[in-house]
Amino acid sequence: MKTPHSTGMTAIEQGDLNPSDSDAGSAKDTSEEVTQAEDIVLPVLDIHGAPITPRDKNKYFIKTYGCQMNVADSERMASLLSEKGMKPARGVEEAGLILINGCTVREKAVHKAVSTLGRYYHQLKDQGMTGPGDKPIIGIGGCVGQLEKEALFKQAPYLDFVFGTDTIDHLPEIVYRVEQGEKHIVFADFDRTQSYTTETKVLGLKAQAFVNIMKGCDKFCTYCIVPFTRGREKSRTIEEVLNDLARMSASGVREITLLGQNVNSFGKGNPNTANRAPVDLKNQIGKVGPRAGDENFPQLLHAIDADPRLGNIRRIRFTSSHPLDFSDELIDAYSTVKKLAPQLHLPVQSGSNRVLQKMGRHHKIEGYIAQMDLLRAQNPLVGLSTDLIVGFPGETEEDFQATLTLLDRVQYDNIFAFAYSPRPGTRAAKLDDDVSVKEKNDRLNRLLQHQLKISEARSQLLVGSEMEILVEGESKKQTLVEKGEGKGRVWTGRTGCMRIVHFADDSGRNLVGRFLRVKILAATALSMKAELIHDAMEAERYDVLPTTASGAPVKYGALQGSAMPVSEVIA
Ligand code: SF4
Repeated sequence: MKTPHSTGMTAIEQGDLNPSDSDAGSAKDTSEEVTQAEDIVLPVLDIHGAPITPRDKNKYFIKTYGCQMNVADSERMASLLSEKGMKPARGVEEAGLILINGCTVREKAVHKAVSTLGRYYHQLKDQGMTGPGDKPIIGIGGCVGQLEKEALFKQAPYLDFVFGTDTIDHLPEIVYRVEQGEKHIVFADFDRTQSYTTETKVLGLKAQAFVNIMKGCDKFCTYCIVPFTRGREKSRTIEEVLNDLARMSASGVREITLLGQNVNSFGKGNPNTANRAPVDLKNQIGKVGPRAGDENFPQLLHAIDADPRLGNIRRIRFTSSHPLDFSDELIDAYSTVKKLAPQLHLPVQSGSNRVLQKMGRHHKIEGYIAQMDLLRAQNPLVGLSTDLIVGFPGETEEDFQATLTLLDRVQYDNIFAFAYSPRPGTRAAKLDDDVSVKEKNDRLNRLLQHQLKISEARSQLLVGSEMEILVEGESKKQTLVEKGEGKGRVWTGRTGCMRIVHFADDSGRNLVGRFLRVKILAATALSMKAELIHDAMEAERYDVLPTTASGAPVKYGALQGSAMPVSEVIA
């Protein structure tokens, strides 16, 4: 399990809402991907039992729940605090500033964030660290802060401040105000301006980075709270994104994940649209995606591919998407944009048109399947994943069977599946939640078991093939070596199609952040075993590492598995 101690890099921890909650599941082994926090490290005690681990007011600890948007936001918070001169704490027990970046996608998620706060507070109380001058500053942000605002002070009076998704950049100022003695600050206004402009902040040397290109959602699916916590869709301009990426490429970033609630509608209404000719976008759903005349997402992908300043960036991923805005032009981009990874996470939520209509998804299953068929016709090995909700109000066994049929038809590589639970404040919460918990869990299990067989079969297609991977770090399981099936250290990397690959290397090199070619030897539904194709010399030639200002190759710390597909929503 990854802890701040094992990475030695950061105090950002990702909580465990997705996909390991009891009512959620993935047919994929996420143990290599989702960092589950071990955030309370027992303090070292002196002979009288008093803690001797010093609490440092210049150290921060951030606990993150939820999706990749929240993970990216936490990285931004960490960067802003570092610019203020603060350092990451090794654990919550030595932090002078404790932040929770919470998720609201389910009611349970809100409870989880607040109960984590309570746990921290009781630990502080046990240490006698709750008095004036002793207590660390405590804040809560993200979607929880945006939605709950001052109501959180009732539940946690010891909280010092609440901030929202649009006010992250004010964090240093808010912390300063608390240091000056202000209490119960709420900084959670939505940014009501039309444009969206930002600069990506990456903490330290990273080979992978998230880049927000748009924010908000205009879709209003009936079960989802996101449009209320992240606001309406707004996009950056292509020019601004490219300049941002040029800076990141120069710092050694190799793989980017373009982020947004619905990246396919990138460009809508951004300030660069005024003089553009109308574009007739089509898709298999039968609707036009982004509005005519806007900059659009495929144009952004082509621009990234062509920009000579972005030489270090070899791979582009994106998440998340809505089928309604998934245009034929974007499907074409999979064969024309060289850097675009052969992978797509396109949430569908149900295989039944009746349920899709109740969910307010505005698309039919036939159009979605046509999109998947077009993509697989271009590249049969493209990695496909999706989100599914089981037990939505009114879902019958017949509807559920339609979802199983969809799995057979599309042959996903992986799914993220969730048992429905109502989220207060959404339209679906007013529907009769008439599928029993037992039935929901049963359907969830059947769905995951069904997908496991498909994932296994899809993996087997890759055995014997040669693939490129980006090395993310040393494997937590040194099983190849333990079984005598390799020498040296076992590393973990990821293919363009998002498969986890383990391989052994006895050269003693640090391989993190390197693109390498491997031959796949064996595969399960969850991961693959491989061998390196090239020796150390060939590997150097295959992928020349970016260099620092002094001309030395960049040395990356372990990556965070940041490129995993994010679930569009946890119902
Ligand atoms: S589920 Fe996705 S598309 Fe639907 S409202 Fe939520 S964020 Fe938007």
